[in-house]
Amino acid sequence: MKQLRWLMLSGFALLAAMAFLATRTDAEPGQVKLIVPGVWFCEGDLANLGHSNNIIIEMKDYLIVVDANFPSGAKLTLETARRISSKPVKYVFDTHHHGDHAYGNPIWTKAGATTLAYVGVADEMKRYEPARWKTAAKERPDVAELHLDAPEPPQQTFDKSPFILKDGSREVRFYFFGWAHTRGDGFVYLPKEQVLCTGDAAVNGPHNFTADGNVGNWPKVVRAAQGLGARYILPGHGASGGPEILDGQVRFMTELHKAVDAAIKDGKKLEEVAPPAATVAGKVVPAKTTIALPDSVQNWMGPSLPAQVRDTWQEIVQKKPRGDIPH
Ligand SMILES: [Zn+2]
Repeated sequence: MKQLRWLMLSGFALLAAMAFLATRTDAEPGQVKLIVPGVWFCEGDLANLGHSNNIIIEMKDYLIVVDANFPSGAKLTLETARRISSKPVKYVFDTHHHGDHAYGNPIWTKAGATTLAYVGVADEMKRYEPARWKTAAKERPDVAELHLDAPEPPQQTFDKSPFILKDGSREVRFYFFGWAHTRGDGFVYLPKEQVLCTGDAAVNGPHNFTADGNVGNWPKVVRAAQGLGARYILPGHGASGGPEILDGQVRFMTELHKAVDAAIKDGKKLEEVAPPAATVAGKVVPAKTTIALPDSVQNWMGPSLPAQVRDTWQEIVQKKPRGDIPH
């Protein structure tokens, strides 16, 4: 009987563990999760604060932080870094130029860190800034209170991929595989630990933003990252997970491109397939789309799908990457 009870108890423990595993990919904003010894994943509060995820990597004498986040997110992650280690943050890597990944740069440099990025990130800033910074300063107090006219570009850039940082304890490789989410998409890979940080080139959930992207080339970039053979995937938005995040990201972009291409070849009109949001008789009619994608990419589908369809449509019709079409 005693043995049976023990069996039942361990059965419950197993069930609880399975439930935990099953919800592993659920979003946990604000959580700091140890992925492997010395590598922490901090899931940003995207829904309420617009924050990206951050990763903290411990080296022998210093820390590397992946993504600068918005200034308010930078402050939270700087606090987290100080809580988990007495080592200073020496490098902050901007995976790309978007505000939620790079506008926190001044917070980090003031704290003594060097901001680092693939050269394409600095080029994207030259292309789109300071217009976006000015808009953000009107909407976000954390950006406004820095009293700057433009974002702070990364202090150190590299143009040969991979750029490598290593000491006796760890090797960290910074890769550029081409244009997916932006022209500057950087990946961070820890070869020994098989940990890959993807920025927004791969996200876990309906968080793909395609307006600066290259939808047609996106799967190619993620496939190149898949070639590294990572076990742990730490995306720019959404929960951490395994290689299934990369598989899903490739599948989503492939299916999106395929479905939009088929609608164009069928002679459909964009305004029928994906009408933008409109105000009709004082009422807001949200953007919608008739494009249907397979269940296997459900995790990546959300309210942005009509915009993603429109971006992909323009890319195919104008025969150039969405980011090369003025917007
Ligand atoms: Zn982004």
